[in-house]
Amino acid sequence: MFTGVKVAKVMRPTLPNSWLAANIGRMHTLSLASLSLTELQTHMKSWALPAFRAKQIIDWRNKGILSLAAMKNVPNNVKVILEEKMNIESLQLVTRQKSSDGTRKYLFALKRENQALKHIESVLIPDVGRGTVCISSQAGCVLDCPFCHTGTQKFEGNLTAAEILAQVLAVKHDLLTDPMQQDLHNQVTHIVYMGMGEPLANEDAVFQSLELLMAEDYLHLSRRRITVSTSGLVPQIERLGEKYPVNLAISLHTADNTLRDRLVPINQKHDLSKLRQCLNTYPLTKKRHITLEYVMLEGVNDRDEDLQALLKFVHPDRERVNLIRFNTYPGSEFAGSSTERVNQFAKGLISQGIRATVRRSRGDDIMAACGQLKTAKQ
Ligand code: SAH
Ligand code: SF4
Repeated sequence: MFTGVKVAKVMRPTLPNSWLAANIGRMHTLSLASLSLTELQTHMKSWALPAFRAKQIIDWRNKGILSLAAMKNVPNNVKVILEEKMNIESLQLVTRQKSSDGTRKYLFALKRENQALKHIESVLIPDVGRGTVCISSQAGCVLDCPFCHTGTQKFEGNLTAAEILAQVLAVKHDLLTDPMQQDLHNQVTHIVYMGMGEPLANEDAVFQSLELLMAEDYLHLSRRRITVSTSGLVPQIERLGEKYPVNLAISLHTADNTLRDRLVPINQKHDLSKLRQCLNTYPLTKKRHITLEYVMLEGVNDRDEDLQALLKFVHPDRERVNLIRFNTYPGSEFAGSSTERVNQFAKGLISQGIRATVRRSRGDDIMAACGQLKTAKQ
Protein backbone atom coordinates (compact mmCIF):
# COMPACT_ATOMS: atom_id res chain seq x y z
CA MET A 1 0.00 0.00 0.00
CA PHE A 2 2.20 2.80 1.25
CA THR A 3 5.54 1.50 0.10
CA GLY A 4 8.78 3.40 0.13
CA VAL A 5 8.04 5.30 3.30
CA LYS A 6 10.14 4.68 6.37
CA VAL A 7 8.02 3.64 9.28
CA ALA A 8 9.60 2.77 12.60
CA LYS A 9 7.30 0.49 14.50
CA VAL A 10 7.72 -0.07 18.21
CA MET A 11 5.99 -3.23 19.27
CA ARG A 12 4.82 -3.61 22.82
CA PRO A 13 3.37 -6.89 24.00
CA THR A 14 -0.41 -7.13 23.85
CA LEU A 15 -2.02 -7.78 27.19
CA PRO A 16 -1.75 -11.46 28.00
CA ASN A 17 -5.01 -13.37 28.41
CA SER A 18 -4.09 -13.86 32.02
CA TRP A 19 -4.22 -10.09 32.55
CA LEU A 20 -7.98 -9.89 32.87
CA ALA A 21 -8.16 -12.91 35.13
CA ALA A 22 -5.52 -11.38 37.37
CA ASN A 23 -7.23 -8.02 37.43
CA ILE A 24 -10.88 -8.92 37.66
CA GLY A 25 -12.16 -7.70 40.96
CA ARG A 26 -9.45 -5.07 41.09
CA MET A 27 -11.12 -2.66 38.67
CA HIS A 28 -12.87 0.31 40.21
CA THR A 29 -15.17 3.08 39.18
CA LEU A 30 -12.62 5.70 40.28
CA SER A 31 -9.83 6.39 37.81
CA LEU A 32 -6.74 8.47 38.44
CA ALA A 33 -6.92 9.94 34.93
CA SER A 34 -10.29 11.60 35.56
CA LEU A 35 -9.94 12.92 39.11
CA SER A 36 -9.49 16.56 40.00
CA LEU A 37 -7.06 17.44 42.76
CA THR A 38 -9.90 18.32 45.12
CA GLU A 39 -11.65 15.02 44.44
CA LEU A 40 -8.47 13.03 45.09
CA GLN A 41 -7.85 14.99 48.31
CA THR A 42 -11.36 14.14 49.50
CA HIS A 43 -10.87 10.46 48.70
CA MET A 44 -7.46 10.40 50.38
CA LYS A 45 -9.00 11.76 53.58
CA SER A 46 -11.76 9.16 53.46
CA TRP A 47 -9.09 6.44 53.10
CA ALA A 48 -7.22 7.88 56.12
CA LEU A 49 -4.30 8.98 53.92
CA PRO A 50 -2.62 12.39 54.19
CA ALA A 51 -4.31 14.78 51.77
CA PHE A 52 -1.02 16.47 50.81
CA ARG A 53 -0.01 13.27 49.00
CA ALA A 54 -2.81 13.97 46.52
CA LYS A 55 -0.89 16.94 45.13
CA GLN A 56 2.23 14.80 44.59
CA ILE A 57 0.24 12.14 42.78
CA ILE A 58 -1.61 14.67 40.64
CA ASP A 59 1.71 16.34 39.70
CA TRP A 60 3.00 13.00 38.39
CA ARG A 61 -0.29 12.29 36.65
CA ASN A 62 -0.30 15.66 34.92
CA LYS A 63 3.16 14.91 33.52
CA GLY A 64 1.73 11.78 31.98
CA ILE A 65 3.09 9.40 34.60
CA LEU A 66 0.39 6.99 35.63
CA SER A 67 2.57 4.20 36.97
CA LEU A 68 2.71 4.16 40.77
CA ALA A 69 6.15 2.58 40.61
CA ALA A 70 7.49 5.72 38.94
CA MET A 71 6.03 8.11 41.58
CA LYS A 72 9.23 8.33 43.56
CA ASN A 73 8.12 10.59 46.40
CA VAL A 74 5.00 8.58 47.22
CA PRO A 75 5.51 5.99 49.97
CA ASN A 76 4.65 2.35 49.41
CA ASN A 77 1.86 2.18 51.98
CA VAL A 78 0.02 4.94 50.10
CA LYS A 79 0.57 3.19 46.76
CA VAL A 80 -0.87 -0.07 48.07
CA ILE A 81 -4.08 1.66 49.16
CA LEU A 82 -4.38 3.64 45.94
CA GLU A 83 -4.06 0.48 43.93
CA GLU A 84 -6.80 -1.14 45.96
CA LYS A 85 -9.17 1.79 45.62
CA MET A 86 -8.96 2.93 42.02
CA ASN A 87 -7.87 2.29 38.45
CA ILE A 88 -4.41 3.75 38.11
CA GLU A 89 -3.81 3.15 34.40
CA SER A 90 -6.85 3.21 32.14
CA LEU A 91 -5.00 2.29 28.94
CA GLN A 92 -2.28 -0.11 27.91
CA LEU A 93 -0.03 0.94 25.07
CA VAL A 94 0.02 -1.85 22.51
CA THR A 95 1.94 -0.40 19.56
CA ARG A 96 3.34 2.91 18.51
CA GLN A 97 4.20 3.84 14.94
CA LYS A 98 6.21 6.80 13.76
CA SER A 99 5.57 8.37 10.40
CA SER A 100 8.34 9.79 8.25
CA ASP A 101 6.85 13.26 8.95
CA GLY A 102 7.12 12.84 12.74
CA THR A 103 3.46 11.96 13.30
CA ARG A 104 2.99 9.17 15.83
CA LYS A 105 0.08 6.78 15.96
CA TYR A 106 -0.69 4.89 19.16
CA LEU A 107 -2.78 1.78 19.54
CA PHE A 108 -4.14 1.35 23.05
CA ALA A 109 -6.08 -1.43 24.74
CA LEU A 110 -8.72 -0.32 27.23
CA LYS A 111 -8.14 -1.87 30.62
CA ARG A 112 -11.61 -2.89 31.64
CA GLU A 113 -13.13 -5.45 33.88
CA ASN A 114 -14.95 -8.46 32.49
CA GLN A 115 -14.78 -7.43 28.86
CA ALA A 116 -12.89 -8.58 25.85
CA LEU A 117 -10.14 -6.04 25.27
CA LYS A 118 -11.17 -3.14 23.07
CA HIS A 119 -8.71 -1.06 21.14
CA ILE A 120 -8.56 2.60 20.22
CA GLU A 121 -6.09 4.86 18.45
CA SER A 122 -4.67 8.33 19.06
CA VAL A 123 -2.31 10.44 16.99
CA LEU A 124 0.33 13.02 17.86
CA ILE A 125 0.94 15.63 15.18
CA PRO A 126 4.09 17.59 16.03
CA ASP A 127 4.70 20.99 14.52
CA VAL A 128 7.04 23.88 15.12
CA GLY A 129 6.40 24.99 18.70
CA ARG A 130 3.25 22.98 19.10
CA GLY A 131 2.03 19.44 19.47
CA THR A 132 -1.53 18.42 18.71
CA VAL A 133 -3.00 15.23 20.08
CA CYS A 134 -5.90 13.80 18.14
CA ILE A 135 -7.95 11.69 20.52
CA SER A 136 -10.68 9.09 20.18
CA SER A 137 -13.97 9.35 22.02
CA GLN A 138 -15.51 5.99 21.08
CA ALA A 139 -14.29 2.58 19.99
CA GLY A 140 -15.68 2.66 16.44
CA CYS A 141 -18.58 4.84 15.33
CA VAL A 142 -22.24 4.13 14.57
CA LEU A 143 -22.77 7.04 12.24
CA ASP A 144 -21.54 5.27 9.12
CA CYS A 145 -20.26 8.11 6.92
CA PRO A 146 -19.41 6.03 3.85
CA PHE A 147 -16.02 7.70 3.18
CA CYS A 148 -14.71 7.12 6.73
CA HIS A 149 -12.66 4.11 7.72
CA THR A 150 -13.70 4.34 11.38
CA GLY A 151 -17.34 4.20 10.29
CA THR A 152 -16.76 0.80 8.69
CA GLN A 153 -15.55 -0.64 11.97
CA LYS A 154 -17.79 -2.48 14.40
CA PHE A 155 -18.94 -0.11 17.14
CA GLU A 156 -17.62 -1.27 20.49
CA GLY A 157 -18.82 1.44 22.81
CA ASN A 158 -18.19 4.78 24.43
CA LEU A 159 -14.95 5.64 26.17
CA THR A 160 -15.00 6.90 29.74
CA ALA A 161 -13.62 10.34 30.56
CA ALA A 162 -10.59 8.60 32.08
CA GLU A 163 -9.96 6.67 28.85
CA ILE A 164 -10.25 9.88 26.81
CA LEU A 165 -7.85 11.77 29.08
CA ALA A 166 -5.45 8.85 29.46
CA GLN A 167 -4.70 9.14 25.73
CA VAL A 168 -3.35 12.64 26.25
CA LEU A 169 -1.38 11.54 29.30
CA ALA A 170 0.09 8.56 27.48
CA VAL A 171 1.30 10.75 24.62
CA LYS A 172 2.88 13.16 27.12
CA HIS A 173 4.56 10.22 28.78
CA ASP A 174 5.82 8.89 25.47
CA LEU A 175 7.43 12.22 24.63
CA LEU A 176 8.87 12.55 28.12
CA THR A 177 10.53 9.15 28.02
CA ASP A 178 11.83 9.34 24.44
CA PRO A 179 15.44 10.59 24.63
CA MET A 180 15.13 11.95 21.09
CA GLN A 181 12.05 13.95 21.95
CA GLN A 182 12.59 15.29 25.44
CA ASP A 183 12.45 18.84 24.20
CA LEU A 184 8.99 18.02 22.92
CA HIS A 185 7.58 16.67 26.15
CA ASN A 186 5.86 19.84 27.14
CA GLN A 187 4.55 20.34 23.72
CA VAL A 188 1.16 18.78 23.98
CA THR A 189 -0.33 22.19 23.37
CA HIS A 190 -3.50 21.42 21.43
CA ILE A 191 -6.17 18.73 21.59
CA VAL A 192 -8.53 17.79 18.78
CA TYR A 193 -11.41 15.36 19.18
CA MET A 194 -10.97 14.03 15.67
CA GLY A 195 -9.92 10.46 16.31
CA MET A 196 -12.23 7.48 16.34
CA GLY A 197 -15.88 8.09 17.09
CA GLU A 198 -18.37 10.89 17.28
CA PRO A 199 -17.53 12.92 20.40
CA LEU A 200 -20.99 14.40 20.81
CA ALA A 201 -22.56 10.94 20.76
CA ASN A 202 -20.62 10.36 24.00
CA GLU A 203 -21.61 13.63 25.55
CA ASP A 204 -21.20 13.01 29.29
CA ALA A 205 -17.70 11.56 29.12
CA VAL A 206 -16.54 14.08 26.52
CA PHE A 207 -17.88 17.02 28.54
CA GLN A 208 -16.19 15.71 31.67
CA SER A 209 -12.91 15.33 29.78
CA LEU A 210 -13.21 18.91 28.47
CA GLU A 211 -13.75 20.21 31.97
CA LEU A 212 -10.59 18.47 33.19
CA LEU A 213 -8.43 19.44 30.21
CA MET A 214 -9.19 23.06 31.03
CA ALA A 215 -9.03 22.71 34.84
CA GLU A 216 -6.31 24.67 36.59
CA ASP A 217 -5.15 21.62 38.52
CA TYR A 218 -5.15 19.38 35.44
CA LEU A 219 -3.75 20.34 32.03
CA HIS A 220 -5.07 23.89 32.23
CA LEU A 221 -5.49 24.23 28.47
CA SER A 222 -7.30 27.25 27.14
CA ARG A 223 -10.55 26.54 25.32
CA ARG A 224 -8.93 28.10 22.29
CA ARG A 225 -6.55 25.15 22.15
CA ILE A 226 -9.23 22.48 22.12
CA THR A 227 -11.35 21.55 19.11
CA VAL A 228 -14.34 19.26 19.04
CA SER A 229 -15.18 17.91 15.61
CA THR A 230 -18.70 16.68 15.02
CA SER A 231 -20.73 15.37 12.14
CA GLY A 232 -23.54 17.66 13.33
CA LEU A 233 -25.53 16.54 16.38
CA VAL A 234 -27.50 19.75 16.80
CA PRO A 235 -28.84 19.58 20.41
CA GLN A 236 -25.43 18.45 21.64
CA ILE A 237 -23.66 21.30 19.80
CA GLU A 238 -26.00 23.71 21.56
CA ARG A 239 -25.16 22.23 24.95
CA LEU A 240 -21.43 22.29 24.11
CA GLY A 241 -21.73 25.99 23.32
CA GLU A 242 -23.51 26.65 26.62
CA LYS A 243 -21.17 24.66 28.84
CA TYR A 244 -17.76 24.36 27.14
CA PRO A 245 -17.52 26.71 24.17
CA VAL A 246 -14.33 25.26 22.71
CA ASN A 247 -13.42 25.52 19.03
CA LEU A 248 -16.00 23.81 16.90
CA ALA A 249 -15.36 21.91 13.69
CA ILE A 250 -18.31 20.63 11.67
CA SER A 251 -17.94 17.78 9.21
CA LEU A 252 -20.04 19.46 6.57
CA HIS A 253 -18.74 17.79 3.38
CA THR A 254 -21.57 19.17 1.26
CA ALA A 255 -24.11 21.97 1.49
CA ASP A 256 -26.69 19.94 -0.43
CA ASN A 257 -29.24 18.26 1.84
CA THR A 258 -29.88 15.25 -0.40
CA LEU A 259 -26.20 14.55 -0.91
CA ARG A 260 -25.47 15.09 2.78
CA ASP A 261 -28.13 12.53 3.72
CA ARG A 262 -25.84 10.05 1.97
CA LEU A 263 -22.38 11.36 2.87
CA VAL A 264 -23.13 12.24 6.50
CA PRO A 265 -26.19 10.14 7.38
CA ILE A 266 -26.86 11.98 10.69
CA ASN A 267 -28.13 14.71 8.33
CA GLN A 268 -31.33 12.67 7.97
CA LYS A 269 -32.04 13.54 11.61
CA HIS A 270 -30.44 16.98 11.90
CA ASP A 271 -30.58 18.50 8.45
CA LEU A 272 -28.73 21.52 7.09
CA SER A 273 -31.38 24.06 8.06
CA LYS A 274 -31.25 22.93 11.72
CA LEU A 275 -27.46 22.87 11.57
CA ARG A 276 -27.43 26.37 10.04
CA GLN A 277 -29.56 27.77 12.88
CA CYS A 278 -27.43 26.20 15.54
CA LEU A 279 -24.18 27.44 13.96
CA ASN A 280 -25.59 30.96 13.89
CA THR A 281 -25.70 31.04 17.67
CA TYR A 282 -22.61 29.04 18.67
CA PRO A 283 -20.57 31.35 20.95
CA LEU A 284 -17.36 32.55 19.35
CA THR A 285 -14.58 34.58 20.89
CA LYS A 286 -13.10 37.49 19.00
CA LYS A 287 -11.39 36.56 15.73
CA ARG A 288 -12.44 32.91 16.13
CA HIS A 289 -14.30 30.96 13.49
CA ILE A 290 -16.17 27.72 13.26
CA THR A 291 -14.36 25.36 10.92
CA LEU A 292 -16.41 23.66 8.23
CA GLU A 293 -14.60 20.51 7.19
CA TYR A 294 -15.03 19.45 3.60
CA VAL A 295 -13.43 16.25 2.36
CA MET A 296 -12.99 16.53 -1.41
CA LEU A 297 -14.45 13.50 -3.22
CA GLU A 298 -13.96 13.34 -6.96
CA GLY A 299 -17.19 13.71 -8.92
CA VAL A 300 -19.26 13.53 -5.73
CA ASN A 301 -19.02 16.87 -3.90
CA ASP A 302 -16.39 18.73 -5.94
CA ARG A 303 -18.57 19.84 -8.88
CA ASP A 304 -19.31 23.47 -9.76
CA GLU A 305 -22.81 23.19 -8.30
CA ASP A 306 -21.30 21.91 -5.05
CA LEU A 307 -19.13 25.01 -4.86
CA GLN A 308 -22.16 27.23 -5.47
CA ALA A 309 -24.14 25.49 -2.70
CA LEU A 310 -21.20 25.86 -0.33
CA LEU A 311 -20.84 29.56 -1.14
CA LYS A 312 -24.49 30.05 -0.22
CA PHE A 313 -24.19 28.10 3.04
CA VAL A 314 -21.10 29.67 4.58
CA HIS A 315 -21.25 32.77 6.77
CA PRO A 316 -17.84 34.29 6.03
CA ASP A 317 -17.67 36.37 9.20
CA ARG A 318 -18.23 33.34 11.47
CA GLU A 319 -16.98 30.36 9.51
CA ARG A 320 -14.01 29.18 7.53
CA VAL A 321 -13.69 26.19 5.27
CA ASN A 322 -11.04 23.54 5.63
CA LEU A 323 -10.76 21.49 2.47
CA ILE A 324 -9.51 18.02 3.31
CA ARG A 325 -7.88 15.66 0.87
CA PHE A 326 -9.61 12.32 0.93
CA ASN A 327 -7.42 9.79 2.69
CA THR A 328 -8.03 6.51 1.07
CA TYR A 329 -8.08 3.10 2.72
CA PRO A 330 -8.34 -0.42 1.37
CA GLY A 331 -11.80 -1.14 -0.04
CA SER A 332 -12.99 2.47 -0.19
CA GLU A 333 -15.57 3.31 -2.89
CA PHE A 334 -14.38 6.95 -3.21
CA ALA A 335 -11.50 8.71 -4.91
CA GLY A 336 -10.05 12.01 -3.80
CA SER A 337 -10.32 15.11 -5.98
CA SER A 338 -7.21 16.11 -7.91
CA THR A 339 -4.90 18.73 -6.43
CA GLU A 340 -5.94 21.04 -9.24
CA ARG A 341 -9.62 20.67 -8.35
CA VAL A 342 -8.97 21.18 -4.64
CA ASN A 343 -7.06 24.37 -5.41
CA GLN A 344 -9.81 25.60 -7.76
CA PHE A 345 -12.35 25.03 -5.01
CA ALA A 346 -10.21 26.94 -2.52
CA LYS A 347 -9.80 29.82 -4.97
CA GLY A 348 -13.55 29.88 -5.64
CA LEU A 349 -14.20 30.27 -1.92
CA ILE A 350 -11.46 32.83 -1.31
CA SER A 351 -12.61 34.96 -4.25
CA GLN A 352 -15.97 35.32 -2.47
CA GLY A 353 -14.35 36.48 0.77
CA ILE A 354 -14.42 33.10 2.53
CA ARG A 355 -11.41 31.95 4.50
CA ALA A 356 -10.40 28.62 3.04
CA THR A 357 -7.43 26.38 3.67
CA VAL A 358 -6.35 23.03 2.33
CA ARG A 359 -5.47 20.67 5.14
CA ARG A 360 -2.06 19.14 4.95
CA SER A 361 -2.36 15.41 5.40
CA ARG A 362 -0.16 14.10 8.19
CA GLY A 363 0.84 10.56 8.95
CA ASP A 364 -0.85 8.97 5.98
CA ASP A 365 2.04 6.53 5.56
CA ILE A 366 0.97 4.93 8.84
CA MET A 367 -2.80 5.32 8.25
CA ALA A 368 -2.92 8.00 10.94
CA ALA A 369 -4.55 10.67 8.80
CA CYS A 370 -8.14 11.86 9.25
CA GLY A 371 -10.66 9.13 8.65
CA GLN A 372 -8.07 6.38 8.42
CA LEU A 373 -8.24 5.28 12.03
CA LYS A 374 -9.52 1.78 12.41
CA THR A 375 -7.95 -0.38 14.99
CA ALA A 376 -5.51 -2.93 13.65
CA LYS A 377 -7.19 -5.56 15.77
CA GLN A 378 -10.17 -5.46 13.45
N1 SAH B 1 -16.86 11.99 14.21
C1 SAH B 1 -16.31 13.27 14.18
C2 SAH B 1 -14.83 13.31 14.47
C3 SAH B 1 -13.97 12.23 13.92
S1 SAH B 1 -13.71 12.22 12.18
C4 SAH B 1 -16.62 13.94 12.85
O1 SAH B 1 -17.10 13.27 11.95
O2 SAH B 1 -16.40 15.14 12.75
C5 SAH B 1 -12.53 13.56 11.96
C6 SAH B 1 -12.60 14.20 10.58
O3 SAH B 1 -12.07 13.32 9.58
C7 SAH B 1 -14.02 14.53 10.14
O4 SAH B 1 -14.07 15.80 9.52
C8 SAH B 1 -14.27 13.46 9.11
O5 SAH B 1 -15.31 13.80 8.24
C9 SAH B 1 -12.93 13.35 8.45
N2 SAH B 1 -12.76 12.13 7.66
C10 SAH B 1 -13.38 10.96 7.83
N3 SAH B 1 -12.96 10.07 6.90
C11 SAH B 1 -12.05 10.70 6.14
C12 SAH B 1 -11.24 10.30 5.03
N4 SAH B 1 -11.26 9.06 4.56
N5 SAH B 1 -10.40 11.21 4.48
C13 SAH B 1 -10.32 12.47 5.00
N6 SAH B 1 -11.05 12.90 6.05
C14 SAH B 1 -11.92 12.02 6.61
FE1 SF4 C 1 -18.18 8.64 12.67
FE2 SF4 C 1 -16.96 10.99 12.12
FE3 SF4 C 1 -16.33 8.74 10.76
FE4 SF4 C 1 -18.71 9.90 10.36
S1 SF4 C 1 -16.69 10.79 9.91
S2 SF4 C 1 -18.32 7.69 10.64
S3 SF4 C 1 -19.18 10.63 12.40
S4 SF4 C 1 -16.01 9.10 12.93
